[in-house]
Amino acid sequence: MPDTLLYDALRKVFGFHAFRPNQENIVRAILAGQDVFAVMPTGGGKSLCYQLPAVLLPGTCMVISPLIALMKDQVDGARANGIRASFLNSSQLPDERDEVMRDLLSNSLDLLYVAPERFTLEHFREMIGRVKISMAVIDEAHCISEWGHDFRPDYLSLSALVTIFSDIPVAAFTATATNQVQHDILEKLALRNPLVVRASFDRPNLSYDVRFKDNPEAQLVQLLKGNQGKAGIIYRTSRKNVNDTAAMLQAKGYRVLPYHAGLSDAERKRNQDAFIRDEVDVIVATIAFGMGIDKSNIRFVIHADLPKSIENYYQETGRAGRDGEPAQCTLLFAQGDIPKVRFFIDAMLDETERARALGALTKVIAFAGNSVCRRKTLLDYFGESYPHENCNSCDICLGSREVVDCTREAQMLLSAMVRTEERFGAMHIVDIVSGSDNKKIRDFGHDRLKTYGVGKEHEKKYWRQLIDELLAQKVIEKSEGLYPTLFLLPKAIQLLKGEVHIQIVRVQEKKKATSHRAKSEVASTPYNQKLFDLLRILRKQIADEQGIPPYVVFSDRTLHDMAANFPRTAETMLTVSGVGEVKLERYGRQFLRLIDRFCSDHNLDYSKPGIPAEC
Ligand code: ADP
Ligand code: ZN
Repeated sequence: MPDTLLYDALRKVFGFHAFRPNQENIVRAILAGQDVFAVMPTGGGKSLCYQLPAVLLPGTCMVISPLIALMKDQVDGARANGIRASFLNSSQLPDERDEVMRDLLSNSLDLLYVAPERFTLEHFREMIGRVKISMAVIDEAHCISEWGHDFRPDYLSLSALVTIFSDIPVAAFTATATNQVQHDILEKLALRNPLVVRASFDRPNLSYDVRFKDNPEAQLVQLLKGNQGKAGIIYRTSRKNVNDTAAMLQAKGYRVLPYHAGLSDAERKRNQDAFIRDEVDVIVATIAFGMGIDKSNIRFVIHADLPKSIENYYQETGRAGRDGEPAQCTLLFAQGDIPKVRFFIDAMLDETERARALGALTKVIAFAGNSVCRRKTLLDYFGESYPHENCNSCDICLGSREVVDCTREAQMLLSAMVRTEERFGAMHIVDIVSGSDNKKIRDFGHDRLKTYGVGKEHEKKYWRQLIDELLAQKVIEKSEGLYPTLFLLPKAIQLLKGEVHIQIVRVQEKKKATSHRAKSEVASTPYNQKLFDLLRILRKQIADEQGIPPYVVFSDRTLHDMAANFPRTAETMLTVSGVGEVKLERYGRQFLRLIDRFCSDHNLDYSKPGIPAEC
């Protein structure tokens, strides 16, 4: 296929001016009739890899996807670009399904999404035998592997796919596959001499930040303040914490809704829809939330509790920034959270499960507790070595590190613990060394201890952090139960005697994470915030009128691009990333009119491109 045809379709249909890494290779292989197996991270642009050939090849491209909830969004997205797309699944009424079948039989579909169980239906197989299928796609291909975290038995029926579709390419995609899972998928699907692509798992537009969890409520409020009006997810472990956090934020006026398995199906759906449609900014959720979310404009993900594993953390944070624009991932972490998780793990009956959970927890603790580049640690986990010294967008790489000797301060804490017979929790010990005056201190007479107030020169936060460090370095331990107390480990005795010293690495925040990376590599050009806000309002209006999510109308990236370049004509509008011919035709006029009005309201020169970002 000539280059021009390929690039023309990329531009005209999708409004994109360049391929993302690996997309072109995959598209070319499919067009040449080759099978494909591709592991690409979320946001890597997998849909384009088959939607583009679907448009170019005669016949219907059949996409098998397990996520029924997502099919409608994917079809809406494809249709918004003028692609003739539909889906078939159990959520439809028989009449709706009949209509789709009719379209399929009359060769009026470029793309058809189906659920895997369709393939077990004889009449469905018989029917697809009567139409021209251009290619078959297996989305979420890891579901076929028992080794994966998301095995679906009905996916095993797909191993027969290459026999059903013996003369067309079969392409399998996934965002999660360890080498073992990859091997398993390839074996089960029996693809024929496939092009195998394993893209980097790096998500360059995501910045990572681990903060000492000191006062989660206040920290969450502070984080939301810095992300006003932006879409985000806050993950919490328990349903109770989800409810409490959501209520706390609502009371402070934030547009927030909860999501967890304890809510009714109807309420969960309502809350998820409100989030997808930009009606609330933030979802506070357990990990039950996320699968089946295609929303591309999530700008931040906060973990207020420890994630279960690195894999979970990667998947959960991966929901941010699918559109390629900068997004922020924050983990609030304190060693004090570990016993709670341990408690649940220890209660697991299955020994293998327990060992697995414990191994996963250890890796998460290392990720959060070590002062190694977060990106590097994440990529290491997937067996990928990060080639740069400094990623420039995680708290470690952006901060300045210094090693400080805290032996004297640690001795103060330990001595307070000894003098109170190791019968108190962290808060009280901190109150003693920092000389707090409260009832508990007075009742126990702890204001008369020798260590009372010896550490006044430091803030309480300093002491809490140091306790955290002593827990991490196994100098002390925390008992389990409702009122956990701190007790000394053998190393504490050595420390008190001065036989060992304790050093901690302090990371001081130096620069602001996202902006730094954004300027260098992620290249979100400065844009006019006021215009962007107006464009967002228009996008929401159009989306509501059409009953589709706002990000399907245009992504944040497209609106940023408009608010940076002020397109004034249909021609320049087409140069904006994400504006193809159909979208120009459908929405172009309304957006151009808004930009026109904005320029005249602000006395901006019509003719000049590159209008200043601030006006
Ligand atoms: P994945 O399925 O791999 O998670 P998607 O197919 O949803 O990723 O694509 C993620 C986002 O990237 C979408 O908003 C999509 O429009 C955008 N995108 C895909 N390919 C390109 C490209 N070549 N140029 C610009 N944006 C792209
Ligand atoms: Zn880094």
